Amino acid sequence: MNLNDVLRAGRAIAGVLPPTPAWSYPLLDEATGARVVVKHEHVQPTGAFKVRGGVALLAGMSAADRARGVVTYSTGNHAQSIAYACRRFGAPCRIVMPANPNPTKLAAVRALGARADCHGADLTAAQRYAEATANGMRLVGPAHEPDLIAGVGTAYIELFTAHPDLDALLVPVGGGSGAAAAGVVGAALAPGCEVIGVQSDASPAAYESWRAGEPVDAPNRTVAEGLATGSGFPLTQQLLRAHLHDFVLVSDEQLRAAQHVLLTRAHTLAEAAGAAGLAALLADPDRYAGRRVGIVVTGGNAGPAELSAVLG
Ligand SMILES: *Cc1c(COP(=O)(O)O)cnc(C)c1O
Repeated sequence: MNLNDVLRAGRAIAGVLPPTPAWSYPLLDEATGARVVVKHEHVQPTGAFKVRGGVALLAGMSAADRARGVVTYSTGNHAQSIAYACRRFGAPCRIVMPANPNPTKLAAVRALGARADCHGADLTAAQRYAEATANGMRLVGPAHEPDLIAGVGTAYIELFTAHPDLDALLVPVGGGSGAAAAGVVGAALAPGCEVIGVQSDASPAAYESWRAGEPVDAPNRTVAEGLATGSGFPLTQQLLRAHLHDFVLVSDEQLRAAQHVLLTRAHTLAEAAGAAGLAALLADPDRYAGRRVGIVVTGGNAGPAELSAVLG
């Protein structure tokens, strides 16, 4: 996975997904003491950055493979990405979500025409069920696919092209594809920019894996679906080790507070995972004071209960 893979993915998605905006808000600068650039991935048609990966993956599949269809497991945004891309490329799509999914994400997947089953207590159980019932469809894991990483990397080509002078970039991490891609692109286009991963301390598997230098398991209790993984993944961990300058943890309470700040100071609706970059910035103001800091609002698919919690 290198810059050329990301550039190729950029050509594949160019006719499907327009670039997203990246700009600043005086009230956000005031709240943080930094010069913040917000990359708005929640405005994607699926409400999250992952759709870039789904479109890149489907674009690269043969007609025969598309006809057999794609099956995946997800808490929601990866599911929407694959469902959107399958519809766009005419491929059958099946999604396994863990039981009790975010209802907004489940409804969105079904509205995209995918068959969605809710099965298993967590993502690992959903994965096993998807594997056991794939029936010849291509099984696509959220963190094992180079095409998905290359696809999501296109967000960082856009960001670093428009803002080549960023001092730091704070990227939410779940399985690690987004941050791995940010690291690859940042190293090539903006080597002076520190790329920093952010995860919830309630689900720190990627963080612990990065520190340990090998994939490890960790408790998985965050309310932020996009950050909820219980293990590190070899492919993304290898890239994170090569390219991430630092990795920090925030609490779920800090995610909620950052969602509120985005809503009130940047009229931006982020789901909890999408506010992780700002949460890390607010948690460590001295580190970023006066610096140019990019934050990626990775998604905006907050469910009804989550919306009440942010406003309450
Ligand atoms: C999936 C997701 C993340 C984490 O991305 P990874 O590539 O799995 O690390 C962050 N935010 C949102 C909104 C997501 O859906």
